[in-house]
Amino acid sequence: MSDPMFSDLKLVQPDAILGLSAAFRADTREDKIDLGVGVFRTPDNRTPVMQAVADAQNQLVENETTKVYLPPEGAPGFGEAIVDLLFGAGHPAAKDARLAAIQTPGGCGALRIGAELLARSGAKSIHVGEPTWANHKPLMQAAGLEVIALPFYNKEKCAIDFDDFMGGVERLGKDNVLLLHGCCHNPTGADLTNAQIDAIFDAAESQGFAVFIDTAYHGFGESLDADAYMAREAARRLPSALIAYSCSKNFGLYRERAGALIAVGRDAEHAKIMVSHMTSLARGNYSMPPAHGGLIVSKILHDDSLRAAWKNELDHMRGAVIGNRELLVKTAREMQLGDRLDFITRQRGMFSMLPVTKEQTDVFREKHGVYMTGNGRINMCGVNTSNVEAIVTAYKDVAV
Ligand code: PLP
Repeated sequence: MSDPMFSDLKLVQPDAILGLSAAFRADTREDKIDLGVGVFRTPDNRTPVMQAVADAQNQLVENETTKVYLPPEGAPGFGEAIVDLLFGAGHPAAKDARLAAIQTPGGCGALRIGAELLARSGAKSIHVGEPTWANHKPLMQAAGLEVIALPFYNKEKCAIDFDDFMGGVERLGKDNVLLLHGCCHNPTGADLTNAQIDAIFDAAESQGFAVFIDTAYHGFGESLDADAYMAREAARRLPSALIAYSCSKNFGLYRERAGALIAVGRDAEHAKIMVSHMTSLARGNYSMPPAHGGLIVSKILHDDSLRAAWKNELDHMRGAVIGNRELLVKTAREMQLGDRLDFITRQRGMFSMLPVTKEQTDVFREKHGVYMTGNGRINMCGVNTSNVEAIVTAYKDVAV
């Protein structure tokens, strides 16, 4: 019997980052080092359930009486709690009811629904600094948006080339959209300064382009408040904006798929209209978000003691990543690498990007058992006192 529908399909290669994890698991070398996949890890390579999450979860399971559907906007109180967490008490846009959020399946769900809302609003494309997180392109393209790259990070200088980036940004007009990383840039760890963010919003005000902010590492950079600068300024200065929010890293809820899409409207009525489109797009996609992660986040954020415990654990995770950055740079200096890796302590979040080629990352992996993505991105959580010398030794061998 002929198979007219599926017969022409060709095998799709697995996602490069997920493929790297599989290769790491299959590697039998005992001293292999995983700097690949982007999750928080302790020095003994665990990604534990946060205690505040476990406590909230136990309380929820004990008191659970139903598994009935959530409404399309998500768990009760979730959206308000995320808005409050990101914008802080007393933000003028919150006072004017210009902010509203729906719960989404992770940050990816938020990016996808946001991209669809942009397409429904007439956007044909979205601009993003290069390099960016590998999944941005597929998520935006799936909604029909063309992804246009702007120069952003200079790999040789290990720093943002802000003049080049602004050259592109200043040419954007009112039908354009700029996708920005809210904090802890993935894959480079190179964040815009507040003054640079101000300059981008000056351009957005004068040129009229829209911004879509992806916030996947809130609290991993400097603090919950400092990491929210871009979102807060966007809501204060721009007539409208979209923000994708992920609870995967800062609540350690990866597999539960908890995130939010936040609408910044020009007034309360406009925010309501944006949300009505977001829920209708969700309905035509996954209908409503999964409950478990959203209920946990909502419980933690509404309970003073759970919230304080969670914040404490988040501060601890951030401190650990910063400590790993310092350890790597100090060891590199001690092992005669001079200031070559100093840029790593100027960067923030889980990632930095080594100035190496794809071919060099292959040598790191094959010869030294050091796994990183093909663009040289390393997860700082994978660095610890037992492996840091091996990482620097490999670097000296491969890249110096
Ligand atoms: N945006 C960026 C930059 C990310 O790194 C990630 C996850 O790695 C996400 C969004 C989405 O995360 P998730 O869908 O797992 O919540």
